[in-house]
Amino acid sequence: MSPAARPDFSHVDCWLFDLDLTLYDPAHNIMAQVRDRIAAYVEDYFKVDSEQAHQIRYDYWRKYGTTLGGMMAEHGVEPHAYLDFVHDVDLSLLQPCERLRSGIEALPGRKLIFTNADAPYAERVLSARGLSGVFEDIFDIHRMEHRPKPAPESYDALCSALSINPGKALFIEDSAHNLEPAKALGMATVWINHAGDHESGNHCPRYIDHEIDDVADWLHSIKEQETA
Ligand SMILES: [Mg+2]
Repeated sequence: MSPAARPDFSHVDCWLFDLDLTLYDPAHNIMAQVRDRIAAYVEDYFKVDSEQAHQIRYDYWRKYGTTLGGMMAEHGVEPHAYLDFVHDVDLSLLQPCERLRSGIEALPGRKLIFTNADAPYAERVLSARGLSGVFEDIFDIHRMEHRPKPAPESYDALCSALSINPGKALFIEDSAHNLEPAKALGMATVWINHAGDHESGNHCPRYIDHEIDDVADWLHSIKEQETA
């Protein structure tokens, strides 16, 4: 339970979920595998050692928002094959979560995924978590024309393509900076603070409406609030 006062989300009719580290826990170690796969791709592409590859990966991530952005902009890499390679990770640690599924299904309105990953990987993650069929659509990095969150263009493209009224949408994310453009459009914003350092809540950026540490707990707290 977040220590912050719980805002009113009764106006929300469209629930946007990030994927990685939002619909599963950091302890599952998926993102470390993806980072290693990205470095392996870079290592092979540039014929460099692992340390150099991680540095290139990191430098492109800082400059372009994703390593893919750098590989496309500076080297013309084809994104589909790249993403197939980097997302070829072991998801066996992910387990279905009925409590998460029931919490999402109970939300009134549309449920969508908004991810910097690609849709085939997102489908695998959703399947592993027992969430197949829960979401109406997946707005992925290809549909953003490879301008990853937090690029404002990707939020505009999302709202336009899926006919979302941002004033009635809520976005839930573990990367706080990805919530800023959402708030600028009028969306409600929920930040999953995996560090659990809620003592710093007083310094929570103004673009975050609500801070939580567990998605399933939060979803069920909403349901209880509605039925109370
Ligand atoms: Mg995330």
